[in-house]
Amino acid sequence: MKNQKFNFALAALAIIFIFYLLINRLENKKPARAESGNKVVMNTIAKITAIAPDKKTARLSIDSAFGKIYRLEKLMNRYDPNSQISKVNRLAAKEPIRVDKDLFDILQQSIYYSRKTDGAFDITVGPLVDLWKKCAEANSMPTEQQLAEVRGTVGYEKVILDANDFSVRFVVEGVSLDLGAIAKGFAADKAVEEMKRCGAVGGLVDIGGQIGCFGLTEKKGKWIVGIRNPAKAEDNQIIAKLAFSDKAVSTSGDYERFYKIGGKRFSHIFNPATEKNADQLASVTVIAANGTEADALATAVSVLGAEKGLEIIEKTENTEAIIIKAGSKDLIKSRGVERYSSR
Ligand code: ADP
Ligand code: MG
Repeated sequence: MKNQKFNFALAALAIIFIFYLLINRLENKKPARAESGNKVVMNTIAKITAIAPDKKTARLSIDSAFGKIYRLEKLMNRYDPNSQISKVNRLAAKEPIRVDKDLFDILQQSIYYSRKTDGAFDITVGPLVDLWKKCAEANSMPTEQQLAEVRGTVGYEKVILDANDFSVRFVVEGVSLDLGAIAKGFAADKAVEEMKRCGAVGGLVDIGGQIGCFGLTEKKGKWIVGIRNPAKAEDNQIIAKLAFSDKAVSTSGDYERFYKIGGKRFSHIFNPATEKNADQLASVTVIAANGTEADALATAVSVLGAEKGLEIIEKTENTEAIIIKAGSKDLIKSRGVERYSSR
């Protein structure tokens, strides 16, 4: 009897010990984290954080994502004469130009966002960008005549896409596509896809403040993103902290990129309807389901202003915005934005 009790106690101890080992093993299998450090790409600084079952997979997913971003930059950089977008800009008024699936995809999405925003977002602003760049270099304002020349070439309805053979055609000479307002968001989406394909279970892609994230952090928490104060951009002052996952964030503002003529600053975002610089808003942050949408809508809201911009945001499912008017400190928020507030 005594012996039986002893055996029972021994068996119970052995079971407790096995459980202890199992729990310990599970705890030690916490996911690994890897960080890319800063890399210069798409005329800005990008960095990626990856969470994966092991360090090697985390690193591989980062390398693979950057590979994709570099390939996209090669397709979409209009300042590289060898890029596909440059070929389109040079030749598409003469004949339809066939492009890679990724470039066709971003062009199709660009036209979609032009229609959705009544033309506030429009990638045919290329000639306006070139004119203002030239004028800023010469430190002289664009003349009425120069603006009139550009007018006939701006308008997304001048771009014809054929999904049967992935080709692009322009209906008039002089059209020039500029993907600056959507390329970083699109690239962040593709980078996230690439990371998942490589086995990452979580990650955050930041391409010049254009952010896409998925899964959870290694501490099983949401990703935290800080929104900078445009008036204090140099100090990196944060005005709002957002927490989320499987979402994208984009900020368009007048504090990082602008033209300077005669000591005055002019926005690098244009209203395609008037050819004027968008100057109502100091900063627009859009939270959306994907980076392409966040990037395109942040630019569109900058053009449309707070009232009309918010109307579009409220109409679009799963999309929120934080807006700061020029010269103001107040944050104007869409209805559902609070659910992403951190703390
Ligand atoms: P950032 O590049 O600073 O993140 P945006 O995403 O708003 O800001 O992109 C601005 C760039 O997009 C401009 O530099 C220009 O190349 C292009 N652009 C300017 N106005 C428009 C517009 N109305 N629609 C689409 N692209 C635009
Ligand atoms: Mg944008």
